Amino acid sequence: MLGWYDRHRRDLPWRARPGEVADPYRVWLSEVMLQQTTVATVRPRFTAWVARWPDLASLAAADEAAVMAAWAGLGYYARARNLVRAARAIADEHGGVLPGEEAALRALPGFGDYTAAAVAAIAFGRRAVVVDANVSRVVARLRAMPVATPAAIRAATDAITPAARAGDFAQAMMDLGATICTPRNPRCLLCPLRAACAGFASGTPEAFPAKKAKRAKPQRFGTVFWLERGGEVLLVRRPDRGLLGGMRALPTGPWTDAMPGIEAAPIVADWHMLPATVAHGFTHFDLELALAVARVEGHVAAEGGEWWPVADLASAGLPTVFAKAARLLESDR
Ligand code: SF4
Repeated sequence: MLGWYDRHRRDLPWRARPGEVADPYRVWLSEVMLQQTTVATVRPRFTAWVARWPDLASLAAADEAAVMAAWAGLGYYARARNLVRAARAIADEHGGVLPGEEAALRALPGFGDYTAAAVAAIAFGRRAVVVDANVSRVVARLRAMPVATPAAIRAATDAITPAARAGDFAQAMMDLGATICTPRNPRCLLCPLRAACAGFASGTPEAFPAKKAKRAKPQRFGTVFWLERGGEVLLVRRPDRGLLGGMRALPTGPWTDAMPGIEAAPIVADWHMLPATVAHGFTHFDLELALAVARVEGHVAAEGGEWWPVADLASAGLPTVFAKAARLLESDR
């Protein structure tokens, strides 16, 4: 695997090239950004992020609202909040230097087992067992494990993780899963593990790991309100706790089991509903939003809201679900 990695490693903006020393800040940031997001999505976002906050010290000193806005579109905002919290904790408790031990990393905000292991191995060369979705699939096939429980995958990965170059090994496994041992149509003939692979020997490598029956996600409904006054639209800040906490958003009522009307409108106005709705999938439920529009003039008391220029809405850092709604609503103007 290490020989294969030396020849075929992907060139990624957060990755040390041969002969370079990994930058722990960049390794950590990339691992957080890549959770449940593709490399293609993360690449430009990562580059823009490090141009703005090039190191731990700048992130520790960053305005949290600006960080949250920069995170828009990368999934769970708790991750962005934890990046800032961890950067501040590293500044306060570790002299501004990321610790290299898994246990010390795990004590920082937002570091779960995976991130702590990945950073310890990739940034500091420690022997750590790194299991992401790609690694998990490769190992399940390599050992032809029909039932791939996290504990069994971890034990099997532990058994093949070398003492030296554990970070390169982890990245090699990730790259193999991303480019050769792909979910569908693994390209076994190009694979450096073929001779040792029980999944390949079985003739049906794709059968491993066995697919879990998908549970249907609950469906929720809500209404999103576009209140416009002289080229500006009303935005609100979502409560700190809960989904998309602390983010700027269009006003919306509660998300419930049945499609609501305009009961939760921010003000009494002449609301009209658009025929289209917006669908968005969150991890634990699917959401369908009806769209209500009203235009007002003069002074309007909308408590806790802010008027934002419609022409500059892109800079508001709206979470994806509200950005989708805004695109539809703007086209109605
Ligand atoms: S031989 Fe095929 S199934 Fe086995 S690890 Fe390689 S690509 Fe995956």
